[in-house]
Amino acid sequence: MTSLTFTSLGGCREVGRNAFLIESGDSNFLLDYGFEIQNSLVPITIPEKINGFFLSHAHIDHSGLIPVLYKSGYNGKTFLTEATSSLAEMLLKDSIKVQERRGEQPRFLTPHIRKFIKNGFIAKYNQKIRLHNGIAEFYDAGHIPGSCQTLLDTNGKRVLYTGDIKFEETEMLHGADTRIKNVDVLISENTYSYKDHPKRREVADKLKEIIQETVYNNGVAVVASFAVGRAQELLLLLYNLGFDVYMDGMSVEATKRILLNPSSVKNPKQLKKAFGRVRKPRSSQERSRIIKKPCVIITTAGMLQGGPVEHYIKKLHNRPECSLTLTGYQAVNTVGRTLLDTGRYVTEGINEKLKMNVNFMDFSGHCGRGNLIKYYEKLNPKKILLVHGEHSEKFAQELKGKGFDTIAPKNGEKISL
Ligand SMILES: [Zn+2]
Ligand SMILES: [Zn+2]
Repeated sequence: MTSLTFTSLGGCREVGRNAFLIESGDSNFLLDYGFEIQNSLVPITIPEKINGFFLSHAHIDHSGLIPVLYKSGYNGKTFLTEATSSLAEMLLKDSIKVQERRGEQPRFLTPHIRKFIKNGFIAKYNQKIRLHNGIAEFYDAGHIPGSCQTLLDTNGKRVLYTGDIKFEETEMLHGADTRIKNVDVLISENTYSYKDHPKRREVADKLKEIIQETVYNNGVAVVASFAVGRAQELLLLLYNLGFDVYMDGMSVEATKRILLNPSSVKNPKQLKKAFGRVRKPRSSQERSRIIKKPCVIITTAGMLQGGPVEHYIKKLHNRPECSLTLTGYQAVNTVGRTLLDTGRYVTEGINEKLKMNVNFMDFSGHCGRGNLIKYYEKLNPKKILLVHGEHSEKFAQELKGKGFDTIAPKNGEKISL
């Protein structure tokens, strides 16, 4: 029997730079190759020979360094869904700008992104991909459009990597496919192993309330959003409330790309209709003009770093009738996180308490602990490896208590499967 091992190259006991190596006999499979862009953290060096590279979804913490693979001579395929290819291309181009804005030498350039896109092997959900040493298959992960769980059937074992996962259906997505059988090893994200999220409908209702109140008070409701997935969900929730709704920043481009991959969302017709109805400001003059009247603006960046949201905050921060709502995960040391923790808006040359009404709405793209445990009970794998979470060790202990053979690997640790 040849050996089958897992090595974490990054993304264990942390959230960021995901990269996991599966060595199956003489084949090396790489799952994700991400970049922790906030602190410029990269994975441990990968082996020279990669026989298959699988991308779970477009987010930079999973895709951010793929162009570096191709820059350093990798000529093989990247297996991914069509929506992931298109959205990763957009986010990677943007990440060059982010690196430049921070005065860093970008780690890759546009030609390396092009090489990655050209070498993409587009796969659909539930399509069997033949490999030199086994079979791979993607299943819907319900996290963002195009996101997938990856099943590797190799060397007599079935290894399932969840990627980032959400089971609950939303306005945008169906929720993860859980009908996967005979899993031996589960590599599972556990971002929210320590809490459950409130029901989506309740969060959506609360957001609508905040927005209605703002607009009735003659204010502007700024809704800060991630470009991919979240902005489109917010659009579907808000476009027909009867107010003027605008969409701004990278969300506009992301929506166009998602609409070109209609099967990546639950109701593409409705999304198309909603996107056609809202206006998209293009210049700072136009942005300054629209905020003279009460309205709703869905805009990037989700953590308040970059994007037109900066323009809106600078113009509206002194107006208590206006509101700013954060709608997603706020990483440590970001402007958004600082605002939530201290009530102060701190960015280049500005440090002040906002007079706008600031709110946080838990629209997570990840599942909470209860659903994670339910999934483990359903799959009943022989072994669980916990990745993509800051509380993995504690959760592993807890799962052991429930009878699961669970490990919270360290980065660099090699585990026999
Ligand atoms: Zn993600
Ligand atoms: Zn992630």
